[in-house]
Amino acid sequence: MSGLSCAQAMQRFFAYLDRALTGEPLEELEAHLEQCLACCDKLAFSRDLDAFVRQRLGAAVPAELETRIRRALATGP
Ligand SMILES: [Zn+2]
Repeated sequence: MSGLSCAQAMQRFFAYLDRALTGEPLEELEAHLEQCLACCDKLAFSRDLDAFVRQRLGAAVPAELETRIRRALATGP
């Protein structure tokens, strides 16, 4: 079992949240999340934020905001 690094896992978060992740990449991410509390927390936070943003703004999340969120997530510990 190779597993993902946290950086690799984070690169898949948005695809995961969009349910665009399937097959092996999805399995790898879920396997990582089971072992990694830090990423698990970040994903929970992203999911809440994503739900909040979608609720407030509808499906149209401004590209600028999305970019900012992605950048915030990319600068991990
Ligand atoms: Zn991790």
